[in-house]
Amino acid sequence: MRIGTTCVQGGYTPGNGEPRQIPIVQSTTFKYATGAEMGKLFDLEASGYFYTRLQNPTNDAVAAKIAALEGGTAGMLTSSGQAANFYAVFNIASCGDHVVSSSSIYGGTYNLFAVTMKRMGIDFTFVSPDCTEAELEAAFRPNTKAVFGETIANPALTVLDIEKFAKAAHAHGVPLIVDNTFATPVNCRPFAWGADIVTHSTTKYMDGHGVGVGGAIVDSGNFDWTKYPERFAGLCTPDESYHGVTYTERFGLAGAFITKATAQLMRDFGSIQSPQNAFYLNLGLESLHVRMARHCENGLRVAQFLKNDARVAWVTYPGLEGDRYCELARKYMPNGTCGVVSFGVKGGRAAAERFMGRLKIAAIETHVADARTCTLHPASTTHRQMSDEELAAAGVSPDLIRYSCGLEDAADLIADIDQALS
Ligand SMILES: *Cc1c(COP(=O)(O)O)cnc(C)c1O
Repeated sequence: MRIGTTCVQGGYTPGNGEPRQIPIVQSTTFKYATGAEMGKLFDLEASGYFYTRLQNPTNDAVAAKIAALEGGTAGMLTSSGQAANFYAVFNIASCGDHVVSSSSIYGGTYNLFAVTMKRMGIDFTFVSPDCTEAELEAAFRPNTKAVFGETIANPALTVLDIEKFAKAAHAHGVPLIVDNTFATPVNCRPFAWGADIVTHSTTKYMDGHGVGVGGAIVDSGNFDWTKYPERFAGLCTPDESYHGVTYTERFGLAGAFITKATAQLMRDFGSIQSPQNAFYLNLGLESLHVRMARHCENGLRVAQFLKNDARVAWVTYPGLEGDRYCELARKYMPNGTCGVVSFGVKGGRAAAERFMGRLKIAAIETHVADARTCTLHPASTTHRQMSDEELAAAGVSPDLIRYSCGLEDAADLIADIDQALS
């Protein structure tokens, strides 16, 4: 199936007389005739449902669709994008370990890594997405367990050179984890370029209607953990909390990573997506391929308008001719990037705030990638915990306005921007 067909029909194939739409299994628990049957589920000897914190049929169908969209072997839903990135890293890195990350990432992820996970004893080295191979090389340590980056960074709109980062990760025997939230699998499939694990904040384009916060993790099944059994001991040696199951042996490379993340991290941290929200997420996925095309068309038209306007200081849009990341965007996302445009108005921070207050169609929101156009000033909101130095490393200037083109008519968005600039 091509990507559009998978968006509509992937993950769920009803049998004869079964519901056409994915049913919402709004049940915390599942019934068994004997304790012995249920016991097998607890030991991961049989597959089946017993408690929604571990698995739920609605969530599994939607996770399977996202896994199919990414071309992966297994997937899981989480309660948020934050939970997805936390689980994806914590599944292979723990106290005493180290991770190399692009510095150009979402502010919440930066905080998760640099503050909260650091408190858990995991060290992060942040490198510019534009770093040379030698600079990237120098970031690795003997205890490095993973490399992390965002396909298109939120909000800096830098484009990750996935092949460069994958090559370095693999040379050091660790996987590349890519947050593919902004591009979505419709525009970029990181596994095709060497990424091993993909994460999503499904809150953004996948949901697309500002309805539910959620996340997802997909495994490509390509990374061979068993080549480095000591580095990835959690996947390659027996888990005593499941009577000695070894994930790579029992579930193979296709299933080990996601099964471990579900069986250990979801069991213990419990960041589940509700089945109701998974149902809403699926409604969004059914039109993802149609919506992304419009988001990209609007993004390009708004970016072109801004680029040619004398009242605008600068504009960043990876799909724009002449943009710093245009070449990388063409390579990794030939059909379009996303609907988010970053720019600064002449007059700096104060002018930016005045401009935003004058917009009539675009609403000021801590949200992005929605059907309705929204806008944000990261330096005073999502990134306000960062120092000026950290802001610069994340590619966020104090005057940066993040403008997320929705699905409205581009001409109306441009007229709105024009009157606000005036
Ligand atoms: C929003 C976002 C996140 C965090 O996701 P939540 O669903 O808000 O927890 C992570 N990564 C990127 C790129 C995002 O845009």
